[in-house]
Amino acid sequence: MKRAMFVHHPLYGAAPPAARRFPAGKHRAVRDALAAALPGARFVEPEPVGRDALLEVHGAAYVEAVLAARVPAPLERRIGFPVTPEVALRARLSVGGTLAAVGLARAAGFSANLAGGAHHAMPDAGAGFCVFNDLAVAAMAEVRAGRRVLVVDLDVHQGDGTALCLAGVEGAFTFSIHAERNFPARKARSGLDVGLPDGCGDDAYLEALERGLAAAFAAAKPDLVLVQAGVDVHEGDALGRLALSDAGLVARSRLVSAACVGAGVPVAATLGGGYADDVEALGLRHALALVALAGGACGEALADAMLQQHEKALFPGAGPA
Ligand SMILES: [Zn+2]
Repeated sequence: MKRAMFVHHPLYGAAPPAARRFPAGKHRAVRDALAAALPGARFVEPEPVGRDALLEVHGAAYVEAVLAARVPAPLERRIGFPVTPEVALRARLSVGGTLAAVGLARAAGFSANLAGGAHHAMPDAGAGFCVFNDLAVAAMAEVRAGRRVLVVDLDVHQGDGTALCLAGVEGAFTFSIHAERNFPARKARSGLDVGLPDGCGDDAYLEALERGLAAAFAAAKPDLVLVQAGVDVHEGDALGRLALSDAGLVARSRLVSAACVGAGVPVAATLGGGYADDVEALGLRHALALVALAGGACGEALADAMLQQHEKALFPGAGPA
């Protein structure tokens, strides 16, 4: 990893009104954790995405409703919070952030948006805390520029919205590895879906991921990989049920990084899901997953150091046996 570049905006941490379980504080926490671990890291502020890029993926009526902050109540209920002007701006910044991360990744090999991964957003509706689908918008922008994209969705929940937004798009391939019995109840069809049983743990997860990555890369032949790096697969997560450890989370990122390095393609990551009352621990969890994804000798060493630090914070007094 050269000088790591992350995309962040202060509004990422703006809490939507009356959103139960939306972990607003984690966006600031992950930025702080990365800044502490990587003194040379740069944080770039995104521009809000424009209407035309959104219309490549979303229907005009839905886009206009969000931009005007006049989303019908049934659609707001599917999203999980009311769409105020601030929520609408945050959604546009989040998509702009993923577009910016793609540009930075193409220049430097790796970048991450410290928001986004809004994989439940469908062409004509948001869902599950997702307003606009930044992964699909960024993938479409690459496809329009003549490049092939693979979306690797590591969140514990299936990337159903991304699968629907990119269905039939030549040059875009979606791979989702998730908990089969978790939300959404009705799964969409990705290019490749790997549904795992509850409580599957590190070994079974990593084995399934390695096989899935090989198949997805062979089918997609990507020029760029977009990662939804959700950490709700973790054993400490309030909503996930796959029971990955910290070391498993790092190993997961390293498998993806190695596949991208092997194929010689850049990686642009998005934050994705992660739910816990302790936002500092959650921020550290996201930071760990992102740093390990950056790969390279420096990324590897940092991920190891952060992992040790994290374990010390979680289990004070526990030393090597
Ligand atoms: Zn999730």
